[in-house]
Amino acid sequence: MKNTRRDFLKAAGLCSLGLFSKPVKDAFAQDESAYSRRPEALVGKRWGMAVDVKKCAEKVEKDQCKDCIAACHVAHNVPTNIEGPKEEIKWIWRTTYEHAFPGLDAKYTHLEDLPFVVLCNHCDNPPCVRVCPTKATFVAKDGIVMMDFHRCIGCRYCMAACPFGSRSFNFKDPRPFIPEIRTEFPTRMRGVVEKCNFCAERLAEGLLPACVDACKAKALIFGDLADPDSEVRQVIRENYTIRRKVYLGTQPSVFYVI
Ligand code: SF4
Repeated sequence: MKNTRRDFLKAAGLCSLGLFSKPVKDAFAQDESAYSRRPEALVGKRWGMAVDVKKCAEKVEKDQCKDCIAACHVAHNVPTNIEGPKEEIKWIWRTTYEHAFPGLDAKYTHLEDLPFVVLCNHCDNPPCVRVCPTKATFVAKDGIVMMDFHRCIGCRYCMAACPFGSRSFNFKDPRPFIPEIRTEFPTRMRGVVEKCNFCAERLAEGLLPACVDACKAKALIFGDLADPDSEVRQVIRENYTIRRKVYLGTQPSVFYVI
């Protein structure tokens, strides 16, 4: 990513004066068209995920499994070993029931000791998108809440609006903290917000998200929530599921089988 914040503001000013022949969107956006689809691309109307908490817990208990986290962070050049919880960059991580579902009904206290994999919920009614002043975050046609890193001006309104803590901010240049940079996915720069993208770039190639592929326990089920015949819909239909903070009305697309 070569554009700096200064470049962005300068170019935005030039656009407002009509000095750019290209609109800002064309000049800066890395929208869904950035991932040109192969014929074998996976297509959906509203991608979603089910997390089978018990399957995940059994694997974690067996070998402290973090396969999904490792696969995601490698695939997306997520920096590691940045010191301090505030500066940590996370796309998918594990947390406790208490943190994932604060204030949930006392009848679920039997879940207290289980690990919960959490990520961006790709909400159907995402507050993060509404507050973004530059449309750097937007909902793609398949329901994925995307980030256009080039458009992000680092105001962090989206982080304040997300009730799930699903977004991270690059307080420093992340590149020195990436063990091995993959050229297939863009690195970010200081001052940019990032988060899970449901592996939109992999879907465009016909591949499932990296976390789903990596999960040997088959605890992550990904698919089209709009398709009643999809596996994810079947799992949700046949099991008892909960979602995070449904009372806020964001309509998360990630379900937890408990
Ligand atoms: Fe936005 Fe947070 Fe919902 Fe993700 S989980 S779509 S970042 S509000």
